Amino acid sequence: MGRKFFVGGNWKCNGTTEEVKKIVTMLNEAEVPSEDVVEVVVSPPYVFLPTVKSILRPDFHVAAQNCWVKKGGAFTGEVSAEMLVNLGIPWVILGHSERRALLNESNEFVGDKVAYALSQGIKVIACVGETLEQREAGSTVTVVAEQTKAIAEKVSDWTNIVLAYEPVWAIGTGKVASPAQAQEVHFELRKWLKENVSAEVAASTRIIYGGSVNGANCKELAGQPDVDGFLVGGASLKPEFVEIIKAAT
Ligand code: PEP
Repeated sequence: MGRKFFVGGNWKCNGTTEEVKKIVTMLNEAEVPSEDVVEVVVSPPYVFLPTVKSILRPDFHVAAQNCWVKKGGAFTGEVSAEMLVNLGIPWVILGHSERRALLNESNEFVGDKVAYALSQGIKVIACVGETLEQREAGSTVTVVAEQTKAIAEKVSDWTNIVLAYEPVWAIGTGKVASPAQAQEVHFELRKWLKENVSAEVAASTRIIYGGSVNGANCKELAGQPDVDGFLVGGASLKPEFVEIIKAAT
């Protein structure tokens, strides 16, 4: 079975109630391919999740931007996977480079978070990606393989994981990876999955690209054989997100 195109919108730490409602209205009015063709998931900040979930069209879904690594309890400031389940939030983004870099989330910690969220029935968009320094040192594939390995060591079922390749140097910088650069890393990640997990997981897991995707560059990126969709930051707050949803059609 083919891999269904996946488009995620990461709203990061942005928005007011009014702004969030405006974005949802724009999405609700958009004419896009059916859910059978493109899976769309938007990720508002925690505080807006219930509002967005209640007003968003039913063929689009919501994701949290993070969740705690284990069962909730005395972890001030954290939100648990159980709470997301309680609110009916089906997805979570884990291992985003901003959290890895700014909050020191290690590969192992991200692997534990992915495993715990999955164990609670939440689907995961798991992010990997190299810094500019690592790319220039020629270690891109080693870095993303290590990040993926830390996840693979903790999970046995990849059905509910979407792997997001997000080169750190391309996030929020306007410097998008070229279609060839994205394809090369996606190909290597799929090969890694084949050699280290299974041929079946490699063939069925969606590997999406993130890093300065916009309405102008999405079509060519979407045309790459191993690019199964996008995780979009800045452009997911704008009307051009609709063009990105349509990129593969
Ligand atoms: C992101 O935050 O996941 C991202 C890809 O951001 P941007 O599209 O703004 O580069």
